[in-house]
Amino acid sequence: MGLIVQKYGGTSVADLERIRNVAKRVAKTFDKGNNVVVVLSAMAGVTDSLINMANQITDSPERRELDVLLATGEQTTAALLSITLKSMNYSAESLLGYQAEVLTNRNFGSARILDIGAGRIKELIEKNNIVVVAGFQGCDPDGNITTLGRGGSDTSAVAIATAIKADVCEIYTDVDGIYTADPNICKKARKLDKISYDETLEMSSLGAKVLQIRSVEFAKKYNVPVHVRSSFSEEEGTMVVNEDSEMEHLVVSGITCNKNEARITLKKVPDQPGIAAKIFSPLAESGILVDMIIQNTRAGGMTDLTFTVAKTDYNRALEISKKVAEEIKAEEVLSAENIAKISVTGVGMKSHSGVAAKMFSTLASENINIRLISTSEIRISCVVEEKYAELAVRVLHSAFGLDKE
Ligand code: ADP
Ligand code: ASP
Ligand code: MG
Repeated sequence: MGLIVQKYGGTSVADLERIRNVAKRVAKTFDKGNNVVVVLSAMAGVTDSLINMANQITDSPERRELDVLLATGEQTTAALLSITLKSMNYSAESLLGYQAEVLTNRNFGSARILDIGAGRIKELIEKNNIVVVAGFQGCDPDGNITTLGRGGSDTSAVAIATAIKADVCEIYTDVDGIYTADPNICKKARKLDKISYDETLEMSSLGAKVLQIRSVEFAKKYNVPVHVRSSFSEEEGTMVVNEDSEMEHLVVSGITCNKNEARITLKKVPDQPGIAAKIFSPLAESGILVDMIIQNTRAGGMTDLTFTVAKTDYNRALEISKKVAEEIKAEEVLSAENIAKISVTGVGMKSHSGVAAKMFSTLASENINIRLISTSEIRISCVVEEKYAELAVRVLHSAFGLDKE
């Protein structure tokens, strides 16, 4: 007998029939003698359409109110699943974020979990109930509803699994595991049986949305085994666990693609000490995270400074950059939203040379121009035009020998 957390994503609860399918899976796990806590996402597309509705009223809806709105998506599915389970004669109870005591900071829209009380969840489990928790939401110390950022139900699930010391956290989604690249982009991607927390962290931070990065941080910190699998099949998925000696150590283990960034260039900036600080300090003060930065020195004591930010911060970052450009007498500000960051990752890279050269020559062979480059010990990222993103993933996947036979 085990204690299992099962999280179902948007496509798995997209309509009543799928919710019935989820209820059957949950019931089956319960019938095998396990205690089950279910964490749910909103129905596929619902969060987007709620955001859209608010944006029809104003370009910048108040973030507190937006969270009240967005939390309704998960409230709906939690209630519907609980009603379905009860109609099948199981005792189930739904809980919203605050009832599950998911305490977060006040950062509406991307709140961080501070603590999970879980007292009520534990009580319900002891009375043999199936507990259904609305994912993605929590509440701040003043009792305001908060949400955890897009994809945040993964984090709700892993955090709840930590709080109740579950044996495993199962993430049910629309793919049957974690692959060497997004299987919806690269048909030759291979499913991994096991992957380390560190490699998953790297993939999540680079745009593989299969697990929200904060959920992986939680899992790693508290050593929660995470099983990513499909809600549409019985097949085993991918186990995310601590690195062990049995894991394959490929030089490159994955290719990721992130289309959620935008590029800003300040052209002909005076090449003087203190200029970079003048540009990046106001961005930091506004809570804008800058990802890649590149500086190209020109003749005549001038330089071009290019950087990338999340598309959600793009308008604010552009506004700030234009103001700074005027102050420091830069010639002009250029920007582009149609970019994609393609990355190759792998712990094996630490001890191998030539990965960057191979990445660049592979992209060159398809005439794909590289706009920006950044590297770390276990990753190389290149920014390319968005229209080449899928092609770049596929050719790199082949070039690094990751294609399945
Ligand atoms: P859910 O709604 O269940 O949370 P998401 O859409 O957030 O599902 O995440 C699943 C998606 O992640 C898949 O449909 C797939 O397109 C994408 N994905 C990106 N990279 C990978 C990868 N390396 N392995 C598996 N899926 C990936
Ligand atoms: N419904 C939220 C989203 O679409 C949270 C989630 O699905 O994990 O981002
Ligand atoms: Mg998701």
